[in-house]
Amino acid sequence: MIEVDRQPEPCDSGHMELLRWQVGDATVFRIADVDATAALQGLIPKFNSAAVSRAPWLTPNFVDGMGRLRGMVQAFLIMIDGQTIIVDPGVGNGKRRTAVPGWDNLRTDFLGRLQAAGVEPGGIDHVVNTHLHFDHVGWHTQLVSGTWQPTFPDARYLISAEEFRYWQSVPKNQIADQHAAFTDSVLPVHEAGLVDLVTDDHVVTEGVRLLPTPGHTPHHVSVIIESSGQSAVITGDVMHHPCQIAYPDWGASDFDASQAQASRVNLIERFADSDTLIIGTHFADPVAGRIRREGTTFHLAATDN
Ligand SMILES: [Zn+2]
Repeated sequence: MIEVDRQPEPCDSGHMELLRWQVGDATVFRIADVDATAALQGLIPKFNSAAVSRAPWLTPNFVDGMGRLRGMVQAFLIMIDGQTIIVDPGVGNGKRRTAVPGWDNLRTDFLGRLQAAGVEPGGIDHVVNTHLHFDHVGWHTQLVSGTWQPTFPDARYLISAEEFRYWQSVPKNQIADQHAAFTDSVLPVHEAGLVDLVTDDHVVTEGVRLLPTPGHTPHHVSVIIESSGQSAVITGDVMHHPCQIAYPDWGASDFDASQAQASRVNLIERFADSDTLIIGTHFADPVAGRIRREGTTFHLAATDN
């Protein structure tokens, strides 16, 4: 039996509604897990109010009235051609995490929100990871009778082979929560035989593929959706916040800061002034928009669809 928590969520849980975008024949849903505003404070050391005032489009959706970065932990559900794919399923419930206040032993209604999108855990065909940080792999497993069991038992979990090997090597310069997540969220699905170790440009299914965007972690990837002449990109943590579109040199706890910046600049320039929808993995509502060039800078023109 699966123990699905239905406990009340923290009162600062932010925007939790299901959001939906259509990308050609693909339907994409935002499945919220937990508010990330607390986690974002201090994450981008170069963030400053003077620079934010020069990018007024950031307020109030992405920077609140108190000058704080707003953000989310959220997964994205892609339904395309009979395939159901979930990207970066959150922090997870009941995990011991100490890095972010309020994220230890969470009890969110993530699976209830998945059901609201019409999908049961057993209906997921592919779980895709942009990287293996603890806020992207948590719902891989749930605690069942004292052991961590796969949440999506009929899915293939697609992980960059090189990213997996990096975390398998137990890098010492990482916070404890990352090691804990590899142990309680990634290894159990690997041991259950559900992981496919893939290349960084892997094709998940026709219309959904990985785009290498290394730097935040050694083999970080973003996810491209292309269908019937329309396209979208799910960023992962190549950028944590839209302020990094205005200021791509603003890093955020990146493994390789210069490589992360290069990946960010490449992504911004590649999609600027195109119709490609940018879906920000940690962006606050409305979460998605298109990158527009304004002289020598860029901004996100937010959209609800
Ligand atoms: Zn993250």
